[in-house]
Amino acid sequence: MFALQHRGQESAGIVSARESEGGFQVHKGMGLVSQVFSMEELDQLAGTRAIGHVRYSTTGSSNVKNAQPFVVDTARGKLAVAHNGNLVNAAALRTELEARGSIFQTTVDSEIVLHLLAQPRGAGGGLAALRRLEGAFSIVLMGEREIIGFRDPQGFRPLCLGRLDGAYVLASESCAFDLIHAEFLRDIEPGEVVIIDENGIRSEWPFKAGKHAFCMFEYVYFARPDSTVGGINVSKVRVEMGRELARQCPVEADLVVPVPDSGIFAAIGFAEELNIPFFPAFVRNHYIGRTFIQPTQLIRDFNVRVKLNLIREAVEGKRVVVIDDSIVRGTTARTRVINLRENGAKEVHMRISCPPHKHACYYGIDFPDPEKLLANQCTHEEICKYLGADSLGYLSVEGMVRATGRPHKEFCMACFNGEYPVPFDASFDKLIMEKRRNNAHLLDPESPRLL
Ligand code: SF4
Repeated sequence: MFALQHRGQESAGIVSARESEGGFQVHKGMGLVSQVFSMEELDQLAGTRAIGHVRYSTTGSSNVKNAQPFVVDTARGKLAVAHNGNLVNAAALRTELEARGSIFQTTVDSEIVLHLLAQPRGAGGGLAALRRLEGAFSIVLMGEREIIGFRDPQGFRPLCLGRLDGAYVLASESCAFDLIHAEFLRDIEPGEVVIIDENGIRSEWPFKAGKHAFCMFEYVYFARPDSTVGGINVSKVRVEMGRELARQCPVEADLVVPVPDSGIFAAIGFAEELNIPFFPAFVRNHYIGRTFIQPTQLIRDFNVRVKLNLIREAVEGKRVVVIDDSIVRGTTARTRVINLRENGAKEVHMRISCPPHKHACYYGIDFPDPEKLLANQCTHEEICKYLGADSLGYLSVEGMVRATGRPHKEFCMACFNGEYPVPFDASFDKLIMEKRRNNAHLLDPESPRLL
């Protein structure tokens, strides 16, 4: 969970099972893993099986009720769930389940999974019930005898399997295995359900096969560079994205400067390809967290500045290419350009290691409203002018796909091209947009988060 902290910083929780005494132990709280768990609390969680979760909540900072994993008592015993993603048919399923008598404890769509599984088999419960789920879901479940992990048939979000001292481990990203010296075995396949119990491990395939649609933004920004996702190391993909970007949008310059942290690897590739010196002139302050995330623009600007400081000596009098992974609202990118100019950069060329973000994500990444996305509202020239850059270049969809070495058809790229792999209705669209508006003040203006 420490290694996966980048996937959610607002709440953390663990549910463990102790065979000898029966029952589940639960500890959840708001904040980072290090804030939620003390050694005493971890001791209370001793057991033979456990699942944990880190979450970024869009439903309010103080809402510990929505912290995961969730636990429910069912006719078939206790069940706990931890979910990464976004169900696009959550509203319809919830209405149907409530009509059949399910009582929900939270407002989070992940709880629907528990109620579906808890239905009697004859009424469509059990693993077959998972077929009803639509959207993005990588999920781990703990029952009284087993742990179950599965990915939606499109495989939007990652989930992988490891081994540690004869036990199995599931995690969103392989970097979590490195921390505990577990061996990475493989990704869970899209649509695969793995069941781990006293008999070992087996797979089932209850879902209808679907077109794969792995989230491209995991490679661009979200996943950690030290993770292996879809058989490829994320840092390698980012370096390759930088190379592609350099071939597509070359520029004559003296220095390539990354925006840390996610721009670093693309900047390395860009610099290598054009044979321009690389220098990490922006220095990140790692101790800010979300303390300064406030609604006013003044505080947002301060927030952007306090996170990164520039080494003047490195950029003064130079033609600088600054590499970032994406532009969302443009606030951060604009401040970077101003910052570079204030510190004496002669020219500032901005290069972005993915295509312009023009559309909303409905599969678990919390971009702001499309009308707040700079590329949704402005032309290329207008964006360049707003940023105050001498030139601006984005990586193309084709270049981004080439960088992964995998076929185009395996990816979701809807936030770039508007082609949504799983349909959703207008009510879901309305729900997501309302959530975003209500929580706009909680969002870091430039850092998309998982829902
Ligand atoms: S819309 Fe974008 S962020 Fe959302 S799953 Fe697809 S590629 Fe990822």
